[in-house]
Amino acid sequence: MKVAIVGGGLAGCALAHILDFVGAEPVIFEKGPSLASGASGNSIGLYNPRFTAERTPQSDYYASAFSAVLRRFSKLEDVDWNPSGALHLINDEKKKKRFYQTVDSWGWMPETMNIVDADAASEIAGVELRHEAMYLPQSGSVSPVKLCRAYTAGVDFHLNAPDEAWRDINADAVVLACGPAVREYLPDLPIGTVRGQITEVEASEKSSEIKTAICYGGYMSAPVNDMHIVGSTFQRWLDHSDLIEQDDVDNMNKMAAHISGMEEGLNIIGSRASVRATSQDHFPIVGKAPANDLGIDNLYVSAAHGSHGILSTFMAAKLLTDMITDRPYSLSMDTVSALSPGRF
Ligand SMILES: Cc1cc2nc3c(=O)[nH]c(=O)nc-3n(C[C@H](O)[C@H](O)[C@H](O)COP(=O)(O)OP(=O)(O)OC[C@H]3O[C@@H](n4cnc5c(N)ncnc54)[C@H](O)[C@@H]3O)c2cc1C
Repeated sequence: MKVAIVGGGLAGCALAHILDFVGAEPVIFEKGPSLASGASGNSIGLYNPRFTAERTPQSDYYASAFSAVLRRFSKLEDVDWNPSGALHLINDEKKKKRFYQTVDSWGWMPETMNIVDADAASEIAGVELRHEAMYLPQSGSVSPVKLCRAYTAGVDFHLNAPDEAWRDINADAVVLACGPAVREYLPDLPIGTVRGQITEVEASEKSSEIKTAICYGGYMSAPVNDMHIVGSTFQRWLDHSDLIEQDDVDNMNKMAAHISGMEEGLNIIGSRASVRATSQDHFPIVGKAPANDLGIDNLYVSAAHGSHGILSTFMAAKLLTDMITDRPYSLSMDTVSALSPGRF
């Protein structure tokens, strides 16, 4: 079964990986000069579920994705996987309510998700923190750009690919996994963009002591290859990938406000900006495309993965593989309906 995948970011590469695993024949068509040309090109990203106070079809998606990626990352080589754990600081009353409810309603074992006080959080992080936190010991970071490479080992892909390349191959199914560009093909889908910039900093003597990822609205990763990622900005009103100097200042200031004294001696060594795709209801769009003007019957979508693309794109890839190869789904029908492009 030949499957044409339009877009070579995490969504397209993860899908190719799983289709290849089940014996299908995926081919990626990437418009840019390399895989991970868009949002998936960051050197380090955190993998965390999107937390909701109540257990919903949406939270079940992220929970399933979390355990699925943990199993998969342990088998992939050279992806800079660092299961350092992540502390989500409870730095306002709204978060306090939400995170306490999350821990209650999700029902995860305490060794996978719990609340720790500021002293325990400091002990876990290896640096002083002033806030209590929700702690996920199995969370951490991985390199999205390296994931794309690892997912596509042995998979056929074409770079600088024009539309004719995938329109002409007579595939059994076509999957649009091209981030915000999905709306060029399916203009009725309510896909929006949120620009963001991450700041790469060289680890200092002090910052090298950080043992976990620390999230506070922004985030700082534990060191990987002597570097931290400090992220990231959110600009719904911008959709370009040019670097903005003030974004680095904002990322660093936010970090300094939550991890006292950490900014001292930290050198910025790089920045990267790109554009996230999001949907009207902030949940990914995954499944069979509605009737469309492209004249393709077996058309699918994997898009709007927002800020949690590392987890989301992998689970989307599993679901689409099940759909395309006609296998039982590993997600509930409630979740499948919540993801469906037809829900709008
Ligand atoms: C600053 C920032 C920080 C982030 N941090 C994290 C994080 O820590 N953890 C996390 O989980 N997520 C994070 N994300 C989100 C995550 O990066 C995205 O959700 C994810 O990369 C989306 O993958 P994608 O494949 O859907 O989109 P993309 O990576 O954008 O891939 C789409 C691809 O399609 C290609 N394309 C476009 N048009 C066409 C066309 N017509 N034909 C062929 N190809 C085309 C593009 O060139 C691109 O390569 C972050 C995002 C940003 C911007």
